[in-house]
Amino acid sequence: MPIKRKTPAKQATPKTRSAKIAGNGAGNGHSSSSRPLLTLEVSPSISPRNKITIPQFHGPVPPGFLHPGSAISVSHFTLEDVGSILEEASELEAMPAARRALRYAKRRVALLFYESSTRTRTSFELAAKSLGADTALVSALSSSIEKGESLKDTGITLRSLGAECIILRHPNSGAPYLLARSTGLPILNAGDGSHEHPSQALLDLRTILAHLPPSARSTAKRNHSIGDRALQGVTVTIVGDILHSRVARSNALLLPRLGARVIFCGPEVLLPECAAAIGPGVEIERDFERALKQSNVVMMLRIQKERLAGLEIDLEDYIEQYQLHMHRLAAHAPAAIVLHPGPVIRGLEITGEIADGPNSAIAEQVYHGSIIRMALLGRALDAHPKRNEQSSKNR
Ligand code: ASP
Ligand code: ASP
Repeated sequence: MPIKRKTPAKQATPKTRSAKIAGNGAGNGHSSSSRPLLTLEVSPSISPRNKITIPQFHGPVPPGFLHPGSAISVSHFTLEDVGSILEEASELEAMPAARRALRYAKRRVALLFYESSTRTRTSFELAAKSLGADTALVSALSSSIEKGESLKDTGITLRSLGAECIILRHPNSGAPYLLARSTGLPILNAGDGSHEHPSQALLDLRTILAHLPPSARSTAKRNHSIGDRALQGVTVTIVGDILHSRVARSNALLLPRLGARVIFCGPEVLLPECAAAIGPGVEIERDFERALKQSNVVMMLRIQKERLAGLEIDLEDYIEQYQLHMHRLAAHAPAAIVLHPGPVIRGLEITGEIADGPNSAIAEQVYHGSIIRMALLGRALDAHPKRNEQSSKNR
């Protein structure tokens, strides 16, 4: 199935390979030899597992295990849930801002961030504010977390202060489960270690759907729901540091359930063979150009140097084989759309020309992120057992 894009990609020559990073224990890149190595070590106390973990259960979470408004893993969503989140997103998008601001007026949302973030944090925060909610941001470096307070105690404190929902980003895979169990609140996972980033997968899905030809789009959304053939004929190639990527993982768990084919592409050190076991519909292709030829969507990932924990990457070789530049895109996938969850490292995984070029849907992803996050917040607050009457009257 073709994916529409704004204008044709122009033929261009590859950009000069300028990325040279050599890591050190502190995680700050610096240039060194002509065959640079990226070798970083992170403290064992913050290092997530250096493996792809396979989830223990798929499908709806057993009753009572988590608050029903939580969004921790895409594998917990039924297709009906996905359809209703997309539907709610479109409804909120179309709503006049003044009406939207009454919808969850004065509800309390906490953002708890143990890792840095630009897009996810800002878009969750602005999404909550645009729904009228009050927000409080707690970040690891400016709170008692720095003094050693545990995740559990921080969560209980936020709940005592009236938080009705917590948005959590944490370097350890599985941290949202701990917070969910210890607070009983709906938890929105804004990225946990190498595990999942469900709001990113949903915003990627919304971006891809927006690029389907109109006929395919209406089939995908027929009866206000999304079916298991919504992305039939669409091949999404995810390229780069799959091993550490919660974005790759959430997308690979979600998109094949809607009929998409997902190809993981990257060197063995960042993409172990076992990654294909993540689920049906996921394949591995080491040759980037061969993968590109089959792709309607190319999702480029950053090398997560903060999680490499001793792995060594020959960056020059990596760029040679896996950088997306205009020449490569125009030759092998001129009609594909290019996605990237950010932060984009220009000159490493993609060139600036690609990031700013006609195939890029990177800015659109950020837009869809704010809409999807409104819908996830609404779902979390609506499912709250103590929802107050006033806020539901305002809807
Ligand atoms: N890590 C990226 C950022 O900091 C995107 C995200 O927050 O998920 O912008
Ligand atoms: N923004 C994404 C994340 O938080 C990807 C990245 O950081 O490279 O997982």
